[in-house]
Amino acid sequence: MLNGSNTTTPNGGSDELNVSFEFFPPKTEKMEETLWQSVRRLEPLSPHFISVTYGAGGSTRERTHATVARILKETALKPAAHLTCVGATREEVDAVIKDYWNLGVRHIVALRGDPPDGGGTPYAPHPGGYANGAELAAGIRRIADFEISVAAYPERHPDSPDFAADIDMLKAKVDAGATRAITQFFFDNDLYFRYLDRVRAAGIDIPITPGFIPILNFRQVAKFARACGTHMPSRIASQYDGLEDDPETRKLVAATIAAEQASDLAAQGVTDFHFFTLNRADLVYAICHLLGLRPKAPAQEEVSQ
Ligand code: FAD
Repeated sequence: MLNGSNTTTPNGGSDELNVSFEFFPPKTEKMEETLWQSVRRLEPLSPHFISVTYGAGGSTRERTHATVARILKETALKPAAHLTCVGATREEVDAVIKDYWNLGVRHIVALRGDPPDGGGTPYAPHPGGYANGAELAAGIRRIADFEISVAAYPERHPDSPDFAADIDMLKAKVDAGATRAITQFFFDNDLYFRYLDRVRAAGIDIPITPGFIPILNFRQVAKFARACGTHMPSRIASQYDGLEDDPETRKLVAATIAAEQASDLAAQGVTDFHFFTLNRADLVYAICHLLGLRPKAPAQEEVSQ
């Protein structure tokens, strides 16, 4: 299943297991240390790419750039830089895109972004900027031959009035040059497969890679889920009930829940996974291991033994 001939799988990838890892740019030295320990831990799994997020309203522009630059300089990994349309003119965004190309970056995750104050206010494009993910993807495509990933929403984006409008937007992003979609995280695999059916019925044939979030901190992930319209099943909420002050047990519960979800996706033929790591490697590494992924090169200590 994982290493056979190169056929197309339900999510549109090849039949080899392909993983990618998403990180956020660190704010402090301590966070930077954690990030790099995590990158080093996950590096031997030879991810297809690792991506670095872009803070709301471009708030991490420099830090995203610095993290991507360090990945290029110090690792053999392929970085993907997230970029949003928020709070910037087209010229400003184009300058960032050109800068990435000149640096050697060949993959951008093109996003509309959210209003800088988070939820509450409706999204309003910058008057001189790109209006949405599709316009941004087209802008990137005009500048250089980047690999372009975009976002997709198995439970539809909260701004989409219905699934048809949501799929139309994904179609517009593909027509503009997107080569892969990465989904918002979800906890009910059926929703993903139903969405995949809708996407394929609309004639969209790019890989739709599931975005996968391990729940180490239930409160934090539940808050993310509320903000982006992801359904949190009550079964999962009750599994974390009473563990607020028990990080050790929480970790075991998180591993069990994540293993169940990932194994079910794999059993149904999914071969591409994008992990929202939140800059933590252990759980993600364990899930990859369970899925059958093994380090490509032995660790240095093993070589010298
Ligand atoms: P789009 O696809 O452009 O639009 C989303 C929806 O908004 C559409 O489906 C449509 O309903 C509506 N819409 C958009 N434009 C119009 C229009 N002109 N008229 C009417 N309706 C419209 N955010 C960050 O800030 N930084 C990140 O690094 C980041 N990384 C992400 C990575 C992934 C994998 C995912 C899934 C999301 C990420 N996000 C990030 C969040 C993302 O920015 C938000 O979900 C945002 O609200 C939508 O971005 P989009 O590119 O999907 O928008």
